Amino acid sequence: MRKISILGATGSIGQSTIDLIARAPDAYDVVALTGGRNIAQLATDAIALQADLAVTAFEDELPALRQALGGSSVEAAAGQKALIEAATRPADWVMSSIVGVAGLAPGLKALEQGACLALANKESLVCAGKLLLQTAKTHNARLLPVDSEHSAVFQALVGEEISAVERIIITASGGAFRDWPVEDLKGASLAQASSHPNWDMGQRITIDSASMFNKALEVIETREYFGVDPSQIEVLVHPESLVHALVGFRDGGLMAHLGAPDMRHAIGYALHWPERRDLPVERLDLAAIGQLNFRKPDLLRYPALEQAQQVMQRGGLMGAVFNAAKERALDHFIAGRIRFTDMAEITARVLDQIESQSGLIDSAMTLDNVTQIDHMARRAADAVTAHNIG
Ligand code: NDP
Repeated sequence: MRKISILGATGSIGQSTIDLIARAPDAYDVVALTGGRNIAQLATDAIALQADLAVTAFEDELPALRQALGGSSVEAAAGQKALIEAATRPADWVMSSIVGVAGLAPGLKALEQGACLALANKESLVCAGKLLLQTAKTHNARLLPVDSEHSAVFQALVGEEISAVERIIITASGGAFRDWPVEDLKGASLAQASSHPNWDMGQRITIDSASMFNKALEVIETREYFGVDPSQIEVLVHPESLVHALVGFRDGGLMAHLGAPDMRHAIGYALHWPERRDLPVERLDLAAIGQLNFRKPDLLRYPALEQAQQVMQRGGLMGAVFNAAKERALDHFIAGRIRFTDMAEITARVLDQIESQSGLIDSAMTLDNVTQIDHMARRAADAVTAHNIG
């Protein structure tokens, strides 16, 4: 039986992972499930999957978790230390699906114990790509992409040399506002930004799809994971969300990966890798679909894409600055403090400020330094919000 843990089990990716595992309960020994504030879901899944341990990231939720697990043999724990402890428990395969930079430290711990880490948490790669890859190498662990675009690239590269790659094209649905007049974006509401045309995902990534902050993070993730030059990475708007990525080779050939917009594709590929097994996902009927459309993204509509270029050109710890500023700007948008378009204004100003002021950007990529610059960027984003926006 394969020992499995899921970090971020109560979220959209975590639940899709559980859906796959629950279909073959005899194949998996569930070590740990972690969540945040959705205690009822965490306890229900931990009991159903007979997990050894259930952890909530928030200490004030421990009494509720204990109560929900009452009478079962599942151990309960809470807080950051417990989260790290969960990631440290020996497992063969660990899903990293906590949202935000909070997923970085547990992911590193899972790699340190030699697990195969299925990485949905793109923020880890954006903030600390080199650290993550180096940790995997040092501990003979494996990092598998779960983002649908990166899983698609990974699959297109099977049997290929990265030196034969000319370009990598990742696609974007364009999000909720792809067809809105750009001047209307200022007035976009939280409810409108939280509704995705094709994918059913957590709220934060759905809003990040509308602004293309999500795609900006994925461009950086592509650079970090596959080690290609930023000039080799392209983004195309593809409203159908059926082609997830294409790899262009030096002979002019393009390898595309197609599949229904269902994250169980990429999660299942990482779960069964290097084999392919049956997955309960829709089979595409291309004749019924009829046509696939692609267009270049409009950078006025999606300024985050240009910011990703700035981040990659600058290098060092700029990815952590970008991610932190983006996370705080998103918090402020969700809380109703700023407009949709203010998010990109905030990240632009924080990038410029910290790039010109802080030598920390060029410091070593350690968890401490990433955490320090993350906090600095959050404070800067809050200050910009308080003084300049609105
Ligand atoms: P969700 O918001 O649905 O779930 C996030 C998970 O993280 C939940 O289990 C949540 O707990 C937990 N969590 C929240 N805050 C913290 C914290 N501070 N510390 C520890 N755990 C916390 O997110 P998604 O599943 O949509 O996304 C997860 C990751 O996967 C993100 O990095 C996202 O970018 C990436 N991803 C998601 C895709 C998708 O289709 N959803 C596609 C590709 C990548 P609780 O809910 O109990 O509070």
